[in-house]
Amino acid sequence: MRPAGPAPSDDDGPAAAAPLLARAQELDEAEPLRHLPGRYLLPEGLLYLDGNSLGALPAGVPDAVADAVRRQWEQGLVASWNTEGWWDAPQRVGDAVGRLVGAAPGQVVVGDSTSVQLFQCYVAAARMRPGRRVVVADPDAFPTDLHLLSSAARLADLEVVPARPHEVPAVLTARGGEVALLALAEVDYRTGERCDVAALTAAAHEVGALALWDLAHSVGATDVDLDAAGADLAVGCTYKHLSGGPGAPAWVYVAARHQRDVDPPLTGWHGHADPFAMDGRYVPADDVRRMRVGTPPVLSLLALEAALGTLDDVTAAQLRARSTSLVGLLVEALTALVPELPLAGPADPARLGGHVAVRSPDAWGVVRALAARGVVGDFRAPDLVRLGVAATTTRHADVVGAALALRAVLDADEHRGAEHAVRSTVT
Ligand SMILES: *Cc1c(COP(=O)(O)O)cnc(C)c1O
Repeated sequence: MRPAGPAPSDDDGPAAAAPLLARAQELDEAEPLRHLPGRYLLPEGLLYLDGNSLGALPAGVPDAVADAVRRQWEQGLVASWNTEGWWDAPQRVGDAVGRLVGAAPGQVVVGDSTSVQLFQCYVAAARMRPGRRVVVADPDAFPTDLHLLSSAARLADLEVVPARPHEVPAVLTARGGEVALLALAEVDYRTGERCDVAALTAAAHEVGALALWDLAHSVGATDVDLDAAGADLAVGCTYKHLSGGPGAPAWVYVAARHQRDVDPPLTGWHGHADPFAMDGRYVPADDVRRMRVGTPPVLSLLALEAALGTLDDVTAAQLRARSTSLVGLLVEALTALVPELPLAGPADPARLGGHVAVRSPDAWGVVRALAARGVVGDFRAPDLVRLGVAATTTRHADVVGAALALRAVLDADEHRGAEHAVRSTVT
């Protein structure tokens, strides 16, 4: 719970910080994954708390990309589709992602964007539940999820019924046999609040509906277990916590039991049972490959594969433990040092994903002023200062440092500086 009372003054800010800094040091020294940040490249001195938007560059990726370009493309040319395994990369890299979301091999493919994969899943799910017209979805979901659902609803004649995660069980009970699909994100992209994937999936199944999970902010941050939860479909980004790089392709999960029935709307030739038969009739592959569409972005796929290689010896449970420890200390530091900015989500790290947000009427100025101090978070409209921890790269000392910088920004009114008034295109 957030203590009531006035903000610390200029003088007792650092005093309140001393025990936090001491504990951060202890936690960093005892941390089982303390070697992990050393596998990534970040500019010296920067406190990067935006790995939930664009993950840091893994040290092995520049060489892997150079190899893909100079050897595989320049020398191997078209033969590399076979000799370098380009053709099978979507499934191979999919399995590597699957390991981090509790998906046994053969249920995940990588390619296209999360937006495209969401559209594929909305329509495919509707087709798997003919006679049911209702999709239950969070009205506060990430906008692309809502935009694509709205278009899928027009295409497939669906009714979108809004329900925030805590309202879902009641809505499912009320609409019961009409519900085709429950579509939710595990982690709220704004507040960081996490919901119970297994319980909500079970609630959807109870009324005969399918469950689609958007794990954009989960993979690499939570220990979500799709197989154990009985999830039907899931999608997620790879450029966030997985550090796949800007524009890295997304992934889609189809539970093994649905792979012969799933009927995605984008029936490109890579999803065909025999693409090089050059058959004019569409015969879908009989496994998760039917979620493939067209030629994938191979250079990005190979960069992502190298990024995932950084985590070969790390489990999702280990990443989750590190993330929870970092998030817990960040919440504590914010609560102690900047009590005047309320948390947007819960304070319990068990109920959060990999980021924490606080509300401020001057959020944009605060985020810019923090950046001027070398602390990178991000602004989310209308009033959120969002600070992400990356289980891969963030140190406990960083999260206390960020809270201290926020205290200093507010104390010196730096967020009201005229230079921070203009909003950039990407926030
Ligand atoms: C980041 C994010 C996306 C992004 O989708 P793209 O197609 O990669 O632009 C979608 N949904 C959620 C919940 C996200 O957090």
